[in-house]
Amino acid sequence: MNTTTHSTPPMIDPFGRTVNYLRVSVTDRCDFRCTYCMAENMTFLPKKDLLTLEELERLCAVFVDKGVRKIRLTGGEPLVRKNIMQLIRQLGRHVEAGRMDELTLTTNGSQLTRFASELFDCGVRRINVSIDTLDPDKFRAITRWGDLAKVLEGVKAAQAAGLSIKINAVALKDFNGAEIPEMLKWAHGQGMDMTVIETMPMGEIDEDRTDQYLPLSQLRSELEQRFTLEDIPFRTGGPARYVTVSETGGKLGFITPLTHNFCESCNRVRLTCTGTLYMCLGQNDAADLRAPLRASEGNELLAQAIDEAITRKPKGHDFIIDRTTRQPAVARHMSVTGG
Ligand code: SAM
Ligand code: SF4
Repeated sequence: MNTTTHSTPPMIDPFGRTVNYLRVSVTDRCDFRCTYCMAENMTFLPKKDLLTLEELERLCAVFVDKGVRKIRLTGGEPLVRKNIMQLIRQLGRHVEAGRMDELTLTTNGSQLTRFASELFDCGVRRINVSIDTLDPDKFRAITRWGDLAKVLEGVKAAQAAGLSIKINAVALKDFNGAEIPEMLKWAHGQGMDMTVIETMPMGEIDEDRTDQYLPLSQLRSELEQRFTLEDIPFRTGGPARYVTVSETGGKLGFITPLTHNFCESCNRVRLTCTGTLYMCLGQNDAADLRAPLRASEGNELLAQAIDEAITRKPKGHDFIIDRTTRQPAVARHMSVTGG
């Protein structure tokens, strides 16, 4: 068990950015196969390579000790990992004790009817649910395996449990561009904020990403023909830039890694379920934390490995999507590092 105190200095990278946000991909597996995220036939990590939930908990505790105030669990689908609530309950204790400000997760919503109340009970207050369309047939097509009705039931269950929800939608040309205004009205009508995300070139998929890419600058101009959008300084510690929509009263976020680079304020690092730490979503450099984790029962080696990794946090990503750049910017899929 981690017994270190909060005496360690904060993690500050070479560009002066304080790292206080950890995203943890607890599994690379998923019960959906979204076409922009995964190929239909994915090879997942062998189970033996995964850190145990206890090891993930210990790693997270070391990060909290080093100044992490927010942890987001993601994946793959975090709620399909066996006994995941065990980890969530342990991490929730850091929030309860004031060592952390927030424990949250990003989910596809498929398991929320089962877990919503327990999540609230563990100290989770906000979650992101990814929904790219409200048309059941299109939903099945984009997720390949998903059932919209089940996800919407999950959203209701989460609201009933007291969780606030933000809807995440990846903007995909010719797929949901025209539907975003309706989705926005729906989300805001149910008291949920919404964020639209540009598709990022991560991992080989079965389609050409240039066919999917919809620049959010274009989507924003289209939305401005129907809604009054007002820029606001609101931040949730993430890269989204927010506007309020006067007609609905809700907030809309834009995550624009391609049309507007958001790296200058990056405060996060990403841990995978095998204990690899990525210092940037869009770069390949990584640090192995599994070896120092397993090398000793104390946390000194681990703390050293984390400090060394932070000195390598790069200035930014190099995402490009155009017809001449056919290779993904990084070979790993979003489900490895969790978006
Ligand atoms: N399974 C969960 C979910 O879908 O919310 C969590 C993991 S998923 C990888 C996290 C987010 O990344 C989702 O909102 C998903 O839509 C988004 N995403 C996946 N692949 C992406 C890509 N290539 N470009 C942009 N966003 C992507
Ligand atoms: Fe699964 Fe989320 Fe990727 Fe869709 S976006 S395949 S739900 S990990």
